[in-house]
Amino acid sequence: MPQSRLPKGFRYHGVDWAIKDDENRLHDDKRYGATNFQALEVSLTEAHAWPHVAITMLHELMHVVDAGNDAEGFTTEDFISLFSRGLYAVLTDNPELRQFIWPGDTVP
Ligand SMILES: [Zn+2]
Repeated sequence: MPQSRLPKGFRYHGVDWAIKDDENRLHDDKRYGATNFQALEVSLTEAHAWPHVAITMLHELMHVVDAGNDAEGFTTEDFISLFSRGLYAVLTDNPELRQFIWPGDTVP
């Protein structure tokens, strides 16, 4: 099995969230990803083809942004799906735009 590329977590407005590879549970629930606001945890699986995993990561991050760290979200699943796919597409196709948004960005 290849090494997981999933980050271990992320920080949003000072709160640490975990990212967990949870292939079995997601498969059982017929989902690509899930956000657990009580556990501060995003579940993904790398079992799906790229870029599906990346789009799912953006999708779950948008749920976190939508709902905050502990509140109910106010937008819709359709909105989140549309914008996660759209942001992935525009950022993939426009490296100069990525460079503008994150100048000098490097991963340590
Ligand atoms: Zn969703």
